[in-house]
Amino acid sequence: MTTATSATLFNYSFEVSRPKAHAQVPPSIRRVVIVGGGTAGWMSAMTLAAALLPKGIEIEVLESPVVGIIGVGEGSTPWLRGFFDSVGIEEAEWMPACHATYKCGITFDQWSTKPGFESYFHPFASMLDNLTMTQFTYNARARVNGVDVHAHPNRFFIASTLADLCLAPKPEPNFPFDVWYGYHFDAVLLGQFLQKKAIERGVKYRPCHIKHVQLAENGDIASVLTDTGETIAADFFVDCSGFAGLLIQQALKTPFVDFASNLFNDAAVAMPTPIGDDISPRTVSTALKNGWAWKIPLTERYGNGYVYSSAHCSADEAEHELREHLGLLDSPISARHLKMKVGRVTKHWHRNCLAVGLSQGFIEPLEATALLFIQRTISAFVDYLEAGDVGERAQGTFNQWVNEFFEGTRDYIVTHYKTNSRGDTDYWRENARNVNLSEQLQQLLRTWMSGKSLVGDIQSRKIGSGYPVFSWYCILGGTGIFPDAAQLRAPTASEAPYKMAQIDNLLQRAALNFRKHRDVLAGIPPKSREDSLQIYLW
Ligand SMILES: Cc1cc2nc3c(=O)[nH]c(=O)nc-3n(C[C@H](O)[C@H](O)[C@H](O)COP(=O)(O)OP(=O)(O)OC[C@H]3O[C@@H](n4cnc5c(N)ncnc54)[C@H](O)[C@@H]3O)c2cc1C
Repeated sequence: MTTATSATLFNYSFEVSRPKAHAQVPPSIRRVVIVGGGTAGWMSAMTLAAALLPKGIEIEVLESPVVGIIGVGEGSTPWLRGFFDSVGIEEAEWMPACHATYKCGITFDQWSTKPGFESYFHPFASMLDNLTMTQFTYNARARVNGVDVHAHPNRFFIASTLADLCLAPKPEPNFPFDVWYGYHFDAVLLGQFLQKKAIERGVKYRPCHIKHVQLAENGDIASVLTDTGETIAADFFVDCSGFAGLLIQQALKTPFVDFASNLFNDAAVAMPTPIGDDISPRTVSTALKNGWAWKIPLTERYGNGYVYSSAHCSADEAEHELREHLGLLDSPISARHLKMKVGRVTKHWHRNCLAVGLSQGFIEPLEATALLFIQRTISAFVDYLEAGDVGERAQGTFNQWVNEFFEGTRDYIVTHYKTNSRGDTDYWRENARNVNLSEQLQQLLRTWMSGKSLVGDIQSRKIGSGYPVFSWYCILGGTGIFPDAAQLRAPTASEAPYKMAQIDNLLQRAALNFRKHRDVLAGIPPKSREDSLQIYLW
């Protein structure tokens, strides 16, 4: 087995960085102001609090009482485990408070019309998958080369089996493999939870609306001015002001790179539906006429939404289609409409300002990566800060790294659209015809079509900073980017060395070590009943 296709390679997705006691934070930084109290603001506050408060550095979060938070963003990657570990918060405390469930991955329904490939699951890969991942990538390559072997990803990953059986990805204690998972959670409750924890730990909070940003003579941010005439100064500012990008974009004029030619979606409409008894630990993403709908299970409800292109359908049409999709045409449940700005700033860290969250950029939520960007941006910044390395060179290296991560992730998301075979609307036809692909993505698709291994491309190019090898095999194999069935030939014995029955058996037997998702969730005691009983209203 090549390490490049093993799950252990993916396990970088779970990383705990702890504050360094002897770190040399530059003495010029004594006070940090975070503008914005959404998820980005409070995740940043928690991470900075762990690193800076023990050194006597003050942190204050400013939040407008008139501009609300975005209030969506309910799915994560496995990285979020690392975040909670790094700030010392147990699942038993935060999950019940945020109505959280476990997530094994995402099902993509109806993105492809190829027989047998109308649905596939993008799993979070685990150590156990090292036993079956080589078989999957081997078969996928053989099938591209015209051999009729099974190459749909679903039968090769434990996460897929768990999701199908509504089992929580928490094995019994004697199970010898760790299993990787992310979470679903209520975005509003998560913000409230983090706010409470950050304030308990010593972060200051001031509700105030900023109407102006004052620059110093050298071009740094000197202070922000509120609508009541208060001037609030700091040595360093973190811009978590959402799509507005008050500091990084509006005040510091950092250019914005628009991804509209790659990713057409720029709007969303969201509404909740009741949850049933069984909860499959997965997000479902269903392709609709002009975009896709998410379905996210929380303990108290489903979060649903339709992400679409406003150039292809109106907000009313999108809401109607979502209601139809959810069976809510006559329901009084109200829908919430949102606009999205898709792209990134060129410099996420510029002068004495770091942009985190929607202010630094956003790739549409298809793979639920935004919190991952928040987490990686703030924790990498803390590493630089603790190394005392805050000069222009450090900023350049940091910004290049974040930009590559954005572009690599964007290319993976673009692949969902480029490989669609629906063709039922202009939207899908234009996506399939879209030639605005990065050179690295074009090369990767050429490599796949030539039947060669993707490992070299992903390891040697920037595209690898987005998704690991197995994810690329899942998306291309899962949507059926193979020769048509009629063109395939029966395998020789050496071309079909793996028996699917053995793989099925292995995963089914492994699944016996997991319990029902609902039962596991019910066994997580809520820390505070009051917190978890808040009624969610759009
Ligand atoms: C449709 C959709 C679905 C999404 N799904 C996912 C998902 O599944 N997974 C995921 O990881 N991410 C998802 N995201 C992204 C996720 O919601 C955000 O990344 C996350 O919530 C962080 O937002 P934020 O804190 O940057 O911005 P916001 O939540 O917009 O917060 C901005 C803050 O800035 C403050 N502010 C603004 N102006 C001022 C001012 N003048 N003065 C003072 N304060 C001000 C506001 O009061 C607010 O507190 C989704 C986004 C959208 C649009």
